[in-house]
Amino acid sequence: MSKKTDKSAMANKPGSRKPKKLPRSKYTRAEIWEIFNRFSQQRPEPKGELEHVNPYTLVVAVALSAQATDVGVNKATKELFRIADTPEKMLALGEAKVREHIKTIGLYRNKAKNVIALSQKLIDDFGSVVPQDRDALVTLPGVGRKTANVVLSMAFGHSTMAVDTHIFRIGNRTGLAPGKTPDDIEDILMRRIPEEFLYHAHHWLILHGRYTCKARKPECEACIIADLCKAKEKTCSVPAAIVTLEQPQFQ
Ligand code: SF4
Repeated sequence: MSKKTDKSAMANKPGSRKPKKLPRSKYTRAEIWEIFNRFSQQRPEPKGELEHVNPYTLVVAVALSAQATDVGVNKATKELFRIADTPEKMLALGEAKVREHIKTIGLYRNKAKNVIALSQKLIDDFGSVVPQDRDALVTLPGVGRKTANVVLSMAFGHSTMAVDTHIFRIGNRTGLAPGKTPDDIEDILMRRIPEEFLYHAHHWLILHGRYTCKARKPECEACIIADLCKAKEKTCSVPAAIVTLEQPQFQ
């Protein structure tokens, strides 16, 4: 898959946000490079876990994944995507049956509505083809900026930064990307992470947050960037040895 850098995501497009002035970084460029270099050694090929068979089913899966685990979404969509892997088939299935398939997922009533509405819009406005454009993607019901970023990355190979709860926490805790909103953090990370690491960076940060830099108690003794990290609450400054993980670890 060709990787398209989306560093220009924040600028130059009608309707896009104006780039803000970057806050002064606690990290030198060399330190940031080294942090992502180590992540790349630890997880050379990180992958998203949401199962899908085409860009359309990816949009649906990501829209369903808000406040739900990837494993939970995969369980619910396995049969759904076997029956309905296009917007037309989803509409033919109908909202009540979609609801039935996804009822194990949080907020399923609203999500079923959105799946039908976004399928209808894809047919009406985009010739049933998932657009490769963030401004177009966010016009789909149930698709926000974060979902659009995941779709652009996983379906189309764009380098994007979908800021979830883990990335939000790590950005602020470490001072790599301090910000009050996900958009601020996305902006800083997109501009600070060296281009060569940008495509995989959001998966690396998510996995680092899930397994090491955890919300309640970061496991600094197991952290491969403990020497570089500038978090106030870090409990260890000796980096853990890098062990290459062949398979992505997802829960
Ligand atoms: S040293 Fe601790 S606080 Fe810093 S990134 Fe690693 S786990 Fe997080």
